[in-house]
Amino acid sequence: MNTTKLPSRHLFGPGPTNPYPEATSALGYPLLGHLDPEFLARLDATVSGLRTLWGTSNERTLPLSATGSAGMETAFVNTIRPGDVAVVAVNGLFGERMCDVAARCGAEVVRVDHVWGQPVDAQKVLDAHPNPTVIAAVHAETSTGVLSDLEPLAREKGDALVIMDAVTSIGGMELRVDEWGIDVAYAGTQKCLGVAPGLAPFTISERAFARRNTEPQSWYFDLGMLGGYVGSASGGGRTYHHTAPVAMIASLQAGIDRVLSEGQENVWLRHRQAGEALQDGLQEMGLELFAAEGSRLPQLTSVKVPDGVDSVAVRNYLLSRFDIEIGSGVKEFASTVWRIGLMGPNASPASVTLLLGALKEAIA
Ligand code: PLP
Repeated sequence: MNTTKLPSRHLFGPGPTNPYPEATSALGYPLLGHLDPEFLARLDATVSGLRTLWGTSNERTLPLSATGSAGMETAFVNTIRPGDVAVVAVNGLFGERMCDVAARCGAEVVRVDHVWGQPVDAQKVLDAHPNPTVIAAVHAETSTGVLSDLEPLAREKGDALVIMDAVTSIGGMELRVDEWGIDVAYAGTQKCLGVAPGLAPFTISERAFARRNTEPQSWYFDLGMLGGYVGSASGGGRTYHHTAPVAMIASLQAGIDRVLSEGQENVWLRHRQAGEALQDGLQEMGLELFAAEGSRLPQLTSVKVPDGVDSVAVRNYLLSRFDIEIGSGVKEFASTVWRIGLMGPNASPASVTLLLGALKEAIA
């Protein structure tokens, strides 16, 4: 392959985003063995950084060696025993995926549907079953661009465990796992964290871990076994479980360092300002936003394709003329909605100006 001809894209879709340069450089560090003391120190530092991003003191916090969907799978496979009730809030594709995963773990799934584009209604979810084992919801629904406040759900959860999908929120907006009362949460690296896809940051409370299914049908994602390798921050007694993706963990550590050195609140603000500027600019162009007002994610904007405009042709034009990738809508909204992400380093005024100018030309 002629690498000089590889395109360099502006990844303004729903993810992956362009990574922070620090995260890319770290992929080229000299490779260490996965039990090398230097690597284990790097892993400890990564886990400690993840605790800060999650807003948790959970001992059992780790980067799973797989993408965000593996985080979802790990959450359910370790908390569900066949026959348990899982109440799942569905306001987009990833809520639907949760239902599928929970059902495959043998759960009796109580699916609480919402209109796509609307946030999760905590009371409706809480009223769906008197005594579920698990209540699950997506914090930032990438398929629709909607933010849901999960704190009310977690506050009123009773005896249930609350699972939160934070794939699109981590590193881009406030997360307070402990303060909100979330029991299990998972994420991905390829969105606001500004790292390539490949790892799933994960955290689980002691309460949830104590109640876990100790014989999950998955070997790879059995948290009881993973804890012996990654979970212990003390560094003593590390045992082999699988070969950790050492280069990706170095990259994640660099991405986390980048976010923490800028300051989490500054990073959240940068995402908010970029998203709001984009949404204002789109509306000034006469376009209509898809997600409900008051619940719009700044890092992922969903916008309706104007009548008479060919959604695919516009996306192809942006890609071929400007090297800009944006996403289509999902399922029934595939040709009527675009999804535009400003995540990680792309949450900037320069990206907003480039996008608005390019889109104006593409739909003219
Ligand atoms: N959950 C949400 C909200 C997502 O946006 C995604 C991916 O876009 C996933 C889960 C699945 O993550 P992955 O594609 O990294 O497996």
